[in-house]
Amino acid sequence: MLTDYIIPQTQIAAIIEEAGGDLQIRKDHPVKRPEELAPGECLVKLDCSGACHSDLHAAIGDWPVPPRLPLIGGHEGVGIVVAIGKNTVESPVKLGDRVGIKWIANSCLNCEQCRKGREQNCVKALCSGYTVDGTFQEYVVSYVNYVTPIPEGLPSDAAASILCAGVTVYRALKSSQTSAGDWIVIPGAGGGLGHLAVQYARIRGLRVIAIDTGAEKKNLCLKLGAEKWIDFKENKDIVKEVREATDGLGAHSALVTASSSEGYEQAIEYLRPGGVLMCNGLPGSATLSASVFFTVFKSITICGSYVGNRQDALEAIDIAARGLVKVHFANRPLADLKDVYNGMINGTIAGRVVLDMSKK
Ligand code: NAD
Ligand code: ZN
Repeated sequence: MLTDYIIPQTQIAAIIEEAGGDLQIRKDHPVKRPEELAPGECLVKLDCSGACHSDLHAAIGDWPVPPRLPLIGGHEGVGIVVAIGKNTVESPVKLGDRVGIKWIANSCLNCEQCRKGREQNCVKALCSGYTVDGTFQEYVVSYVNYVTPIPEGLPSDAAASILCAGVTVYRALKSSQTSAGDWIVIPGAGGGLGHLAVQYARIRGLRVIAIDTGAEKKNLCLKLGAEKWIDFKENKDIVKEVREATDGLGAHSALVTASSSEGYEQAIEYLRPGGVLMCNGLPGSATLSASVFFTVFKSITICGSYVGNRQDALEAIDIAARGLVKVHFANRPLADLKDVYNGMINGTIAGRVVLDMSKK
């Protein structure tokens, strides 16, 4: 059966027609009909979607790879499978299952990158809310092999931001070559990715130095287990602060989740020899500058890390379902998205905003 749900013809969706243009909330956006779904596709009725800074980059158009336009953004969605394309074989999900939609909407699963577990680097990968319409709508088209099953005890709004922010920092931490007891610096620690990075780092036994700004983010980071707080607007000598906190030696790793290029500045300098710089934040036009001499002399590793694969998603979600990591979020209606973007631009959102599709 394609569906046993009643699926409306139209829905509410947040659409941008051009990069940097106005975000429009439309109430009459068509919903794809179940009979139009291709084999392997499914239709998911969304409960909610997190709003990630990447959605803001897409809306502004400040990345070197342009998004598809017009565009419905969003890639941290959770909802129910309400239709599955005809002739879909061996679907791992069925009608009624609660699933998550990630940044990577689908990949070929057969190329070298996919076979090596780097599905996110597949040349055929589709990106939710960037190259295909995403989760800032009530009904999203997705792919049965790619949606992430959500465990029963984990509420949809608590799961949503694990699907991008959580997966991304979880994978980056796995690659950070750190061991329990090591120091990690997290610039951007009070934001969506950052506050989850603090928690995933803590459960790996790492000692966290959180860098961000403002009292609310400070309190959040310290509550989540950061041992040291540095306000990047107040403390001008971040290298000195980090060195002092780490017995003069520097940190073992830094995971930059800041959306600005400044978050990357000095990171090489405050790492100890053998240190690993993990790059998550994606300022559109920034370049990494580091002294070649000290990168070599200190045996520093610089590593880009881009979301995660399906296995990373399952692991990150499982940890959240067991209550070890919790998204700090505020629920808002989809119609507030423009205001949420303003909050991101002004840096006033501690943790995440999750858009609740039932709030009108
Ligand atoms: P966010 O707006 O929720 O958080 C960013 C945080 O960085 C804010 O709290 C801000 O105050 C802080 N910040 C800004 N400048 C800083 C500085 N100089 N030092 C320390 N902190 C600073 O954004 P987010 O949703 O967490 O996303 C962060 C970045 O990560 C964005 O660029 C986003 O596109 C990118 N991202 C990358 C991946 C990936 O796969 N690598 C996945 C998701 C998001
Ligand atoms: Zn994201």
